[in-house]
Amino acid sequence: MEANRVYNFNPGPSMLPLEVLKEAQAEFLNFDNSGMSILEISHRAKQYDEVHNQAKADIKELMGLGDDYEVLFIQGGASMQFDMIPMNFATPEKRGNYILSGSFASKAYKEAEILGRGYVAASSKDVNFKHVPTQDEIKLSDDAAYLHVCYNNTIFGTEYHYIPETGDVPLIADMSSDILSRPLDFSKFSFIYAGVQKNLGPAGVVLVVAKKSMLEKSPEGLPTMLRYDTFYSKNSLYNTPPAFCIYMVGKTAKWIKSQGGLEVMAERNKKKAALVYGAIDNSNGFYTGHADKDSRSFMNVTFRLPTEELEKKFAAEALENGLAGTKGHRSVGGMRTSIYNAMPYEGCEKLADFMEKFRKANA
Ligand SMILES: *Cc1c(COP(=O)(O)O)cnc(C)c1O
Repeated sequence: MEANRVYNFNPGPSMLPLEVLKEAQAEFLNFDNSGMSILEISHRAKQYDEVHNQAKADIKELMGLGDDYEVLFIQGGASMQFDMIPMNFATPEKRGNYILSGSFASKAYKEAEILGRGYVAASSKDVNFKHVPTQDEIKLSDDAAYLHVCYNNTIFGTEYHYIPETGDVPLIADMSSDILSRPLDFSKFSFIYAGVQKNLGPAGVVLVVAKKSMLEKSPEGLPTMLRYDTFYSKNSLYNTPPAFCIYMVGKTAKWIKSQGGLEVMAERNKKKAALVYGAIDNSNGFYTGHADKDSRSFMNVTFRLPTEELEKKFAAEALENGLAGTKGHRSVGGMRTSIYNAMPYEGCEKLADFMEKFRKANA
């Protein structure tokens, strides 16, 4: 760990690999011998072209996807996808089906509802989203245009550990907080999107990886910037893309490749999560995890302490110990520690040690 840097457990924007930040720093003033910063360069320059297309290629390679999939870069955050998805893929007669597994999943559904195109196929709201619905609980409508799932529930700290079976109905996933954290059979998904600020880069761009057949033709009457076919037909260069964000995403994808790819990420993430969950499970009830064990997220660990007072104290003392951003989201309360790809094992070790010491001092 670099002097003056903390272990950053914030949910997003969040920690980026130090190597990636240093590389960006080293080429900040003169990118690829252009005499310009990547922040200043034209998105039509050949140097940028390489950044753009290499990032796309590396992401597809990491996901093991072939020619039938395309990568898009879109602005407006993952929240904008909540609108574009039902606008492009659903109608009042062919509704988007949603699983309500948390806060962002519910926000996605709300947008489809505003358009009169939403249907709830399953929900775990009645148990405050402490687990994700099982395959048996999913009931698609007869007119289902797609099934939308939020694959990792950032706020509640739950994650799918299976891929929902949907037959011929396209599966759409919000992977904002677990994208490229583990290998999956991505070909089971027709459309995947992720705001990159959790696991891949700085805020400002959404990564979309989708079957080309989903992107080729958007419905008539839809404005240009809300149409996937605009981004698809122009290689996401119809208007000015957020070049710096895409450059950082490309660097992070390259970093993941250099570490050994998604298998290595998954192995590390599992070990890291085991440290933090271990500190919860071995605390004699001092810490209580929010998520049911079979739905626990490898990315966001949520837990409570006996009192809100102790929770405040925990966050403050953690920060004094170089562990930042442990406070939870107001809808769950308590603590949330986000341990994305870039969080080193040592950060989780330090956190688990701190949890043990804090418990002994305050139990
Ligand atoms: C953070 C987050 C979002 C919202 O992303 P924005 O880019 O801020 O719109 C949506 N879904 C999930 C799963 C998230 O973690």
